[in-house]
Amino acid sequence: MQLSRSAKETHQALEAIRQSGKRTVFVPTMGALHEGHRSLFRKAKDMGGFSVASIFVNPTQFNQEEDFKKYPRPLEIDLTICEEEKVDFVFAPPENEIYPDGLETDIPVPNIGLLMEGEFRPGHFAGVCTVVHRLFEAVNPTIALFGEKDYQQYLVIRDMVKKQNRPISIISCPTIRDRNGLALSSRNRRLSPAGYEKALTIPRLLRSAQQIAQEGEREASKIISQSISKISSAEADQLKIDYLKIVDSNNLEPLKKIDNQARILIAAWVEGIRLIDNDRLI
Ligand code: AMP
Repeated sequence: MQLSRSAKETHQALEAIRQSGKRTVFVPTMGALHEGHRSLFRKAKDMGGFSVASIFVNPTQFNQEEDFKKYPRPLEIDLTICEEEKVDFVFAPPENEIYPDGLETDIPVPNIGLLMEGEFRPGHFAGVCTVVHRLFEAVNPTIALFGEKDYQQYLVIRDMVKKQNRPISIISCPTIRDRNGLALSSRNRRLSPAGYEKALTIPRLLRSAQQIAQEGEREASKIISQSISKISSAEADQLKIDYLKIVDSNNLEPLKKIDNQARILIAAWVEGIRLIDNDRLI
């Protein structure tokens, strides 16, 4: 496994790989790697070609200084995990390699980024688009993999690449959950044992919405209200929900009646930590 901290060196090394006729499969991450990231690395390997990961905690996509400061950064362990997963190349730049002129964001955010997360986290997707654009400049991958866990992010990047006419295939990969159904996230490790229990309300809400839909209910508002009433009020009080919405998977527009494109998305706070999750409904 090769490790580079320099954008220029990464670009040169990976151009040589491309010139040799291999395709490059890229997995951008912010580190604190878990099974969700590992699943993306494995998918990259399964696709053949040359697998590339980046590890960079991007300051411009955080809305709260505190969240950025507390974001875990176990770089040595992360590099061991990349080795274990046989990642071919890791790009782990310092901040000034990505932001040589200061922490500006300069890439237009596709319209889909103005909804949902865009409403609750102003500036978040401007940071995401800027960092992914700059990582793409350095890595210039054939394919880039994104987790469905951050479903809106996947759509935003898909649209950004389309708008820029870049020949990069953007592929989404399934969400990996722990044995209790909680979607893995680097932020989960900041939850106390009691907070973890509270966080399980998130997958419970998604599961009960799916069950209600599978039993035949088609009205989105009823699916939402019934799934909330299914969990106890004590559980509901533990979560501060930013949104719980049923939308069209392709454009995130709210749906009145669900069809097989329907997806339910949630963002909620537990112990001051903001967690997001989503799933198909039927
Ligand atoms: P992050 O390090 O949180 O920025 O995530 C890096 C990539 O891993 C993104 O494409 C995420 O969507 C993806 N990812 C994060 N958590 C999971 C998970 N539980 N299952 C699948 N992919 C994930």
